[in-house]
This record gives sequence, C-alpha cells and structure tokens, in this order.
Amino acid sequence: AIELRNITKRFSGQTVVDSVDLDVDAGSVTVILGPSGSGKSTLLRCINHLEKLDAGTIRIGGELVGYEQKGQALFEVSDSKIARQRSRIGMVFQQFNLFPHRTVLQNIIDAPIRVKKQPRAQAVAKARLLLQQVGLSGREDDWPQQLSGGQQQRVAIARALAMDPEVMLFDEPTSALDPELVGEVLQVIKALAHSGITMVIVTHEIGFAREVADNIVFMEAGKVIASGPARQVLENNANARVSHFLSTVL
Ligand code: ATP
Ligand code: MG
Repeated sequence: AIELRNITKRFSGQTVVDSVDLDVDAGSVTVILGPSGSGKSTLLRCINHLEKLDAGTIRIGGELVGYEQKGQALFEVSDSKIARQRSRIGMVFQQFNLFPHRTVLQNIIDAPIRVKKQPRAQAVAKARLLLQQVGLSGREDDWPQQLSGGQQQRVAIARALAMDPEVMLFDEPTSALDPELVGEVLQVIKALAHSGITMVIVTHEIGFAREVADNIVFMEAGKVIASGPARQVLENNANARVSHFLSTVL
C-alpha cells in the first residue's frame, strides 16, 4: 500500500503540490487525471523521492520513503537507503529512457545485476520471461532504436518489472506514442493491473482509466479536488470542473 499525507511541494515559492492525501491499497490501481500543470508528474516524482518534500510523508508498505523520523523531526535518509527504497518502486515515463547503447536484454538485466546483485543467468532468465509477458520474445539482442516507440515502451515496462517492485508508477506512458501504438502499451499495463501489483498511473486515456482504475484522483492547481471509486468520479457529474475536463479530453 502507498500512503501519502499532506504532500506539499513548492518550486521557487510556487506551491505545485498542495497538501495532498492519498491512499492506494496494496494490489489496487489508482489513476490520476487533471489538466496540464496541475502537479500530477510532480506528485509521482515525490513518491519515489525524485523530489524532496516541503511537507508531508510518504509510506510504502508502512515504511517512510526518503526520510526517517527522529523524535518529531524528519531527516533525509542516506543515498544508499534511498537507492534501496527506489528499487522497490518501478517508474515508467512518457519518454522511454532506454539506454541507447545497450541491447534490449542489457537494458533489462542491468539493474537486477548491479543493484540487486542477481547472478547474470538468473537475471537473463527473468528478462526472457518479462519480454514474453510484454509480447517481445526474441527481441533480446535488438538495439532500442530498432524498435518502434510502442515496443520501446514495453521494454521500459519489462525493465521496471525486472526489479520485482512493490509498486509501479506510470507517468503518461502512451502520450509520446503515435496513436496506432497506444493500444499495445495499454494492453500490457492492463494485464499488469490484473496481476495484483500496486499501481499509480497518470494518463489522459479516459477509456483506459475507466477499465483499469479502482480509484481515480482528479488534480487541479496542485490539489486533489475529487477522488473515489472510478465509476463515481467519472460518471457522477457532481463536480463541474471534473465534468468540464472530461468533456475536453473525451
Ligand atoms: P502535464 O499534464 O503537462 O504533464 P502535470 O500535471 O504533470 O502537467 P507538473 O509537471 O507536475 O504538472 O508541473 C506542475 C507545475 O510545477 C507546473 O507549473 C510546472 O511548471 C512546475 N514545475 C514542475 N517541475 C518544476 C521544476 N523542476 N522547477 C520549477 N517548476 C516546476
Ligand atoms: Mg506531467
């Protein structure tokens, strides 16, 4: 489970994430919706401590992320501890960020070998299984630039899964893709959603959100202005700003 309390992040005096509380149950899928600039990416980046917090706490599986408590005060943890905590959190970005001078296989096995000290043979065997899972069996020796955007993004998902993360964070995983490649990536994420891994997904794909999300969080100007079960947030027209947003993206 992920537990966010009072998450606040400012950039040069401007509050970009404003007192956000959020609970994501173990094994559930939360989709974050909201207009451009509303703080969705910043909130995700806070979860794996790519951003320092101005206030608030993040817990994953009960453990504070990025900080430790001594008395009433919070102190940042060491680099090695944050590296260990990040290894439990898979993140997939809009830009696939594969290492361009490494093959598909090398991209996937790098972190398990380097960070988790897995024996190479074990990492390779796992990578082959993951490539099968994302529909890319046999592409181990390809270079990233030989793959389509959709294929690269599926490798990026396999690479994140190779660390056996407790949670997966996706930041607009399909918005850099040509429209005809979006479906194959959403399909892979959908299958993962049913596999029981805890997920937080920022996306503008409302149909997809409706299918996979247990809960939906709607952000505006750094604040959560609506949240709850997906159906309730998407189909209840009680919140005029949510309805307006949905009418612009549908
Ligand atoms: P989009 O849908 O366009 O991706 P978003 O909801 O993900 O938007 P964020 O990227 O989190 O929004 O940005 C929220 C606000 O914070 C924006 O006004 C942005 O300019 C600002 N911001 C984000 N990162 C930084 C940074 N490193 N330094 C200064 N301002 C930043
Ligand atoms: Mg963003």
